[in-house]
Amino acid sequence: MDQDAEVTDTDTAAARLGQLHRYFRERPVTGPEGHSYTAFRARTPAAGSPILYDTTVSEHITNAVTEIVTHTRAANPDAGPLPARTADVYAWARDNMQHAPDVEQQRQAVIEARHRLEHAITAGDTTVVRPHRCPACHTIGLHWPREAGRNTRAKAVCVNLNCAAANGGMHRRWSLEALACEQVRVEKMLRECAT
Ligand SMILES: [Zn+2]
Repeated sequence: MDQDAEVTDTDTAAARLGQLHRYFRERPVTGPEGHSYTAFRARTPAAGSPILYDTTVSEHITNAVTEIVTHTRAANPDAGPLPARTADVYAWARDNMQHAPDVEQQRQAVIEARHRLEHAITAGDTTVVRPHRCPACHTIGLHWPREAGRNTRAKAVCVNLNCAAANGGMHRRWSLEALACEQVRVEKMLRECAT
């Protein structure tokens, strides 16, 4: 699980994880000058310490990999050994879930879609949110609030006024999990339409 992934498609969960992993490895403890990671690790006592920043990214990677592996092994106790490269864990999960029930494969797809968003946001790329559709009004153009920063537990905001009007004047807010669910639901629907 140590080596970097060589990826060609740069916008999958695997590629995003590979980039994050590489980024983490290339920035050991020498200081993220010019960056603010305060929002990203609100609980840390010494904001600004590069060591804590790297610890957080490292924890993020570990948690993501653990989630995928745990889910895969729960659905398929016979799943084989983990791949050598961290980013290959998604392909490993899909391979080992081929005969799992649909609902488990669906769940896997949602986790992977959410991880893609989480890895990007953890790396500071919040542009991944905007192309998603609001699960309620289905329009594109969700907003990631500036104060949300790299906090992957924050929520995206639907800025569509009709959507807010239908919600008692309140802009609807969506977790990354909700966006991932909606993405997988729509993709599945489109696949079924195409067959
Ligand atoms: Zn909406």
